Amino acid sequence: MSKIVIAGAGYAGMMAAAYLDRQGIPFTLVNNHDYHYLTILLHEVAGGRDVGDKYKIPIKEVLRNDSSELVVATVTGIDRERRVLKTSEGEIGYDYLIYALGWVSEYFGIKGLKEYSLSITNLDSAVEIRRHIDEQFRLYKQDGDDRHLRIALGGAGLTGIELMGELLEYLPKLCRELDIPWEKVDVQCIEAMPTILPMVAEHLRPYVVETITKRGGKLRTNAKINEVTEGVIHLDGGEKVEAGTIVWTGGVRANPILSEAGFTVDRRGRAKVNAYLQSVDDEQIFVAGDSAWAEDENGRPYPPTAQNAEQMGPLAAKNILLRERRREMQPFKPRDWGTLCSLGSEVGVGSFLGVPIKGVMGALAKEGSKAKYLWELGGLRLAGNHAKEVVRI
Ligand code: NAD
Repeated sequence: MSKIVIAGAGYAGMMAAAYLDRQGIPFTLVNNHDYHYLTILLHEVAGGRDVGDKYKIPIKEVLRNDSSELVVATVTGIDRERRVLKTSEGEIGYDYLIYALGWVSEYFGIKGLKEYSLSITNLDSAVEIRRHIDEQFRLYKQDGDDRHLRIALGGAGLTGIELMGELLEYLPKLCRELDIPWEKVDVQCIEAMPTILPMVAEHLRPYVVETITKRGGKLRTNAKINEVTEGVIHLDGGEKVEAGTIVWTGGVRANPILSEAGFTVDRRGRAKVNAYLQSVDDEQIFVAGDSAWAEDENGRPYPPTAQNAEQMGPLAAKNILLRERRREMQPFKPRDWGTLCSLGSEVGVGSFLGVPIKGVMGALAKEGSKAKYLWELGGLRLAGNHAKEVVRI
């Protein structure tokens, strides 16, 4: 059997690994932690819903077969000629590689943004956002400077709005705990485009605006961030927003490892794959999840969503096995479950199987999607072990 290496234990990598593990097919999974987490829940950690440790799923709890190997290391590159994955712990040879390292923040070359903003890129960075906000509120108690109580989020896509929803639930509690008047807190989401959440149906967006505004948050549109200096966002037109906490939620791109390794990439750095998720540049490499530039039969690229990643991972693994057995590989034809955006723990908005939903139904659908994922990853055992931590129905 050829040596299969999986890079990354996000949705795509973890689902690929679970698929092979269940069949007792040997593989090596390389990840920079010994745990997996649900990326779509990071806003809950950053926004203070619960502590980060509760969101960790030990990888060894999912991979139970002795033939499955986990290497905890940071992937630093790919030498395609030698078929070697370069990592912080040394080189790992492969016959087949499933590349699933996910995304990094996209800063669009905006001056000072990377240096002076926080971002939700992994569990640690989400924990850091909450710690930073708590610290700022405590500093306000010491020096009374209102800027400590201003939180500015850059970008009103799903990440920005979901984080806003969490913060508007958590911060009033923090204010009560620290005896800070809630009216003094200013949470604003700054969006360059004329509208928020373009991926949510237009008729549902006023519900989002109303929910957030009623809770005391501000949604600003047609406000483009041009530059960030320490504690200050500079908008197009000259306005300055001084904030103790600045979080960039303005977009993502694939890890630069792909372009550095000479893959054909799109403008967001994703590697082009064929219908079978196999790199168009290298038939020994399959790319899955947010790193894959995959297109539907009409040539439209699939968006980098968790549900696509969950479906790509096992298919990439399956296609490697089919190829090994000289059988026909299967094309990627994902099921579209819809898009869900939580607005705190109790309400949400979006669509489920083509039906628009909002309010409590939106929150229930979102919680249901978490339980479904745990079930698919590790069956009843994993769902039973972790559902109480990550699913809040
Ligand atoms: P995004 O690209 O979807 O949204 C970023 C927003 O920032 C856009 O509205 C953009 O106009 C705005 N922006 C960009 N530059 C700006 C500037 N200079 N000034 C002000 N605003 C600016 O990014 P995201 O929300 O991080 O999402 C990334 C991907 O992850 C998406 O594919 C998304 O669907 C997915 N995601 C899904 C979920 C979910 O399913 N619940 C949650 C989070 C993210």
